[in-house]
Amino acid sequence: MKIRNGFVSNSSSSSFIIVGCKLDPKYYKTIVEKYVDPEYIEDTGEIYCCEQKLETLFCPHCGKRRGELQSIINYEYLMSNEVCDNVEGFITSKLDELPMIGIELEDTGDEIINVSFTSIETAKEKIERIMAEFEIEERIEVIGGTYYNG
Ligand SMILES: [Zn+2]
Repeated sequence: MKIRNGFVSNSSSSSFIIVGCKLDPKYYKTIVEKYVDPEYIEDTGEIYCCEQKLETLFCPHCGKRRGELQSIINYEYLMSNEVCDNVEGFITSKLDELPMIGIELEDTGDEIINVSFTSIETAKEKIERIMAEFEIEERIEVIGGTYYNG
């Protein structure tokens, strides 16, 4: 399969093909925790209790100790960055403002991308397995595009 990806010729852009699905945000945290390599997970170091940022050792509202509370993981950061793990090509990203999971087939600086139907099928099976595990029912799509690196 060849997908023409017009007007892309400089090195500051990349083309990509992803087989994946949009995700209800409620699944996102669980999937990230299971599939994303912890080294990609950014801990903000911020601790919240009773809906307020905790600046002291104890929460002034409920008295909980800082050490009992978990700091905030920056999931927003993860959604806008591709991260890989033990499922080859697995990424998390954002599509139309919704988080998505997918398998990335191709990411190049080239204008033309070649992707075999076999690799699409294989990626679809991988994503279906993850979706089944979390009982997610979403339509799987082949998503292609270009992003600019700056
Ligand atoms: Zn509290």
